[in-house]
Amino acid sequence: MSNVDQAELDKFSQLAHRWWDPNSEFKPLHEINPLRLDWVERLCGGLQGKRVVDVGCGGGILAESMAVQGALVTGIDMAEKALKVAMLHQLESGIQVDYRQITAEDLAKERPAAFDVVTCMEMLEHVPDPVSVLEACRRMVKPDGWVFLSTLNRNPKSYLFAIVGAEYVLNLLPKGTHDWSKFIKPHELAAHCRQVGLDPVELMGMTYNPFSKTYRLERDTKVNYLLACRPA
Ligand code: SAH
Repeated sequence: MSNVDQAELDKFSQLAHRWWDPNSEFKPLHEINPLRLDWVERLCGGLQGKRVVDVGCGGGILAESMAVQGALVTGIDMAEKALKVAMLHQLESGIQVDYRQITAEDLAKERPAAFDVVTCMEMLEHVPDPVSVLEACRRMVKPDGWVFLSTLNRNPKSYLFAIVGAEYVLNLLPKGTHDWSKFIKPHELAAHCRQVGLDPVELMGMTYNPFSKTYRLERDTKVNYLLACRPA
């Protein structure tokens, strides 16, 4: 049994043709990308020449941007159409990413300790067993490497902002994109990381200002947040 929720994958496949439209359902991913890319680059000391795997890469927004910074990127996802869009987009952009339809768990068996950097962003809240994905990330990263995660916090504010606000009021995301019960509190994610042998080293919040329509990285981790880890 693999750790995938087919209904979740279908959601992403159905929207996949709009992945690179910066005004589509994927607008938030386009807008947060420079912020998370800078954060990854700052912590890992630059992506130039690094081997990277992007777990749950979707249409490849983060994967391509890391390749532009000189990383050798493998992008994996289980939504077939999202990967097709990623492959088509790289023909257009000329940016090289090695895309594969494989789970993190299976790639970890094939390529243990093979990557300097593992990224897994906005994906853990869509899988049945997030700890199993974290364990796979731990297996894939080199002993001196980095694992960068992002997901959504679980509390009344995240319900209000990430579900009611984003899906119902501002229409930033299609209704039903997220299931609040699958959101993960930062202390839960940190505990899961420790459980699989990853040390959390930096927790960062990401906030959206609906008036200026901009995102920024800051201390407030109540809704969106990122966690950087290193092998223990
Ligand atoms: N990480 C990308 C895309 C986030 S959208 C970004 O932040 O820009 C979430 C992605 O996770 C979708 O592409 C979806 O297909 C993928 N996904 C969901 N469950 C998965 C699984 N079990 N294995 C691999 N990818 C999965």
